[in-house]
Amino acid sequence: MKIGVLALQGAVAEHMRMIEMIGEETVAVKKVEQLEELDGIIIPGGESTTIGKLMKKYGFDSALVEFSNQKKPIFGTCAGLIILAKEINGTSDTHLALMDIKVERNAFGRQRESFETNLAIKGVAEDFRAVFIRAPYIMEVKNDTEILSIFDDKIVAARQGHLLGSAFHPELTLDPRLHQYFVEMIKEYRR
Ligand code: GLN
Repeated sequence: MKIGVLALQGAVAEHMRMIEMIGEETVAVKKVEQLEELDGIIIPGGESTTIGKLMKKYGFDSALVEFSNQKKPIFGTCAGLIILAKEINGTSDTHLALMDIKVERNAFGRQRESFETNLAIKGVAEDFRAVFIRAPYIMEVKNDTEILSIFDDKIVAARQGHLLGSAFHPELTLDPRLHQYFVEMIKEYRR
């Protein structure tokens, strides 16, 4: 199994370290041709507008939609979650528009721009240490999208089939359980 991390901007090395920690092969993805050899990909946190622009520039916008059409799993964290969303509140800039969710950017207000908290994540952990950095949240899930975690009445993790998204950064702690969950998703879809 090989899991890529989209390496246009953002927290790439940290995700790669987590995947290595759980014993799977990983690669920094900079060209669309690399997608072919992957079983799944992570879109990291960073700045969603920048990542979106670079994705378009390098052809990842259509290539990742095709990747998803093949039911290859995609995990978006923070800015990556925004990139996955069908709808971003207040903008028509919809990026990949794959997952049936509506997100709000920078949603936790100024005094909480960055914080850590323990989360219960369905099927993953009861006590996951989550790091939020100018994080988005999920305002609405639609169709078969499943809510995995809620914090402060806000949805902060969800899954729709082969698509997984978290508003927080699971790669900044040394807890590999959410990455492990993604690996299990990939195994499920390889069958
Ligand atoms: N606020 C950022 C954005 O809207 C996301 C922050 C992050 O990925 N840590 O793109």
